[in-house]
Amino acid sequence: MAARIPLSYSSINITALSEVLKRYENRNHQQIIADFEQAMCKLTGAGYAVAVSSGTAAIHLALLAAGIGKGDVVLAPTFTYVATINPIRYCGAEPVLIDCEPDTWNVDPSLFEEAIIDQRKKGNRVKALLLVHTYGTPAKMEKIVEIAEREEVTLIEDAAESLGAIWNQKMTGTVGLAGIFSFNNNKTFTTLGGGLLVTDKPEIAEKGRFLASQARSRLPFYEHPEIGFNYLMSALNAAYGLSQLPSWGQALEERRAAFSLYKELLGSQAKFQRESGATLSSRWLSTFIFDAPEVSKKSAQLLDLQGFETRPLWNPMHLQPIHTECTVYGGSVSKSLFERGICLPSGKGLKRSDQQQIAEIIRQSLT
Ligand SMILES: *Cc1c(COP(=O)(O)O)cnc(C)c1O
Repeated sequence: MAARIPLSYSSINITALSEVLKRYENRNHQQIIADFEQAMCKLTGAGYAVAVSSGTAAIHLALLAAGIGKGDVVLAPTFTYVATINPIRYCGAEPVLIDCEPDTWNVDPSLFEEAIIDQRKKGNRVKALLLVHTYGTPAKMEKIVEIAEREEVTLIEDAAESLGAIWNQKMTGTVGLAGIFSFNNNKTFTTLGGGLLVTDKPEIAEKGRFLASQARSRLPFYEHPEIGFNYLMSALNAAYGLSQLPSWGQALEERRAAFSLYKELLGSQAKFQRESGATLSSRWLSTFIFDAPEVSKKSAQLLDLQGFETRPLWNPMHLQPIHTECTVYGGSVSKSLFERGICLPSGKGLKRSDQQQIAEIIRQSLT
């Protein structure tokens, strides 16, 4: 049975979609995708955007366009969704995992530095950091950008969850060589399935688009110098994206407001991700941890009985059956977050009274 209040709901707006489709009636459907890409450049401030079928596909393309290949080491957080790590394997590269720090729950800059030095000492080619701004909260960018530049490690941002989050007056996803966004059903901005590769470098965008369209050369006949993929976004998904643009700012503010209200209602025993330095979180999901591990588990059970869907925080990648062979630097911080945390309903249509009821149930579990 579906939960009465899901974790991350977005309502489907058929009227807005029909209006967009009407505007493009009898025109080349490629124009819908081109217009969506242009709109996303404007929204994110990125120079170039390639709309694709998923965030996972966008990560794969970003890595390939950045020249990642067989045997290269790509550093990445262990505290993330599996879609961050799998594309590193698709490239034949080696994911090396880094623990998070307790403020932002993102890559710990000192472990990042340690991993680069240690991996290079072992003779491994450390090429890139695939950075995540988890649950929409930016990583400690000042330090990470400084280390990446000094050590000549390419920065690629998995900003799947952080569209709208800001660091240093820039949108997350537009800081590194390339960035990606996900528009799957449970993200704040959705195309009902899709993703985006963004970059300021024309050659990265061009390589991404080339690989996403079966690596077909621009010739009057079919010629394919590489193995490519069928990753481009469909016109219908792009049309849905265009239809969502007018309401997306409001959807972002609603997520932030939901988080603020939970924070206020739950009080000092609930700990949460900090916005470090000049950053602003997109608060994709409202997430909290409690000192005692029982609190989240007990709350989840009680909330489920009342029809509220919750999830535990990420089960770290170094504890996943498929990625246990990866080297990991640290690991105890993410493990502890997994044991003590909870993701609360954060999506559209969440009422103040729902949040009050949720907070009341959690407060019962605290005693
Ligand atoms: C959602 C998500 C992805 C993958 O996006 P899809 O569009 O579902 O392929 C990748 N990384 C992170 C951190 C995500 O949350």
